[in-house]
Amino acid sequence: MATKDQLTFDDPTTRHPRITPPEQDQPMPGLDSELEPKADRGEKSYRGTGRLEGRKAFVTGGDSGIGGAVAIAYAREGADVAINYLPEEQEDADTIAKLIEKEGRTCVQLPGDVTNRETCDRLIEQAVEGLGGLDVLVVNAGKQVSKPSIEEITDEQFDLTVKTNIYAMFWMCRAAVKHLPAGSSIILSSSVQSYSPSDHLLDYAMTKAAMNNFGKGLAKQLAPKGIRVNIVAPGPIWTPLQVVEGQPKEALPEFGVGQPIGRAGQPVELAPAYVFLASAESSYVIGETLNVNGGADSP
Ligand code: NAD
Ligand code: MG
Repeated sequence: MATKDQLTFDDPTTRHPRITPPEQDQPMPGLDSELEPKADRGEKSYRGTGRLEGRKAFVTGGDSGIGGAVAIAYAREGADVAINYLPEEQEDADTIAKLIEKEGRTCVQLPGDVTNRETCDRLIEQAVEGLGGLDVLVVNAGKQVSKPSIEEITDEQFDLTVKTNIYAMFWMCRAAVKHLPAGSSIILSSSVQSYSPSDHLLDYAMTKAAMNNFGKGLAKQLAPKGIRVNIVAPGPIWTPLQVVEGQPKEALPEFGVGQPIGRAGQPVELAPAYVFLASAESSYVIGETLNVNGGADSP
């Protein structure tokens, strides 16, 4: 029997297991290779259908989690892919690069800290050079730190969250625009936290709301140039960010089970949304937030 892939008809409540992750910790920024249980990024289950033939995509945070799944899917759809990540994540980045190269596609590996403007400018130039152009930018790197009280959010945390999630998004988009031909897509990774902020994620949730707003405004500005900007707002997805600092440790075993679908999402379940928004088939979809959240409320 053929292996299941993203187009197999089945029951979404049981398509992926209802996981009960043990309490666990990892130093920042966390590795997919250390995650328990392992996440499904589509290594075995995402099947390309030729939807991004010849495209040139840059995915920030493309080493792991959602970005890793997007990078694998883009390569299988026919794109060359540049990935950015922190130097500490080289091991995860190598795994994704191998999968991309196995498809006969180019992977440009670009370590660098996006909380620095010069680095963002350099990363865009290196992506353009390495790919021979750029027509998809996925702004996906993110920082999420859970704190039970506003009084425990230090200036340093607040600054780093805003730098990673908002400044880097702005810097990446600003540096990329001049390189993007008509037909290109910019896709931002926002969150269900945009409209339904958890009491322990004040700074993070606020940045994700800003990303939605920025994406819709930029979409209007760039639409006349034929560049489409859209947003994906994931619900609870099993990734390293959740284990490092993203959730209270005691909440991990119950992660995602409160969604109407009854389970956390896997990174591979996000990939089709990013493929759709990058591909020409979404030519009239502009300034949209695509919610992939297992049934949570959205505006
Ligand atoms: P992840 O840990 O796999 O990915 C986050 C990535 O951000 C890391 O791999 C890292 O490379 C990158 N990053 C963080 N700080 C950086 C820095 N200073 N410089 C360069 N890179 C940096 O986790 P993920 O859950 O796949 O996160 C991807 C995106 O999805 C994030 O923007 C996150 O906010 C968003 N998101 C995740 C969930 C979820 O439940 N996992 C839900 C909604 C939104
Ligand atoms: Mg990572």
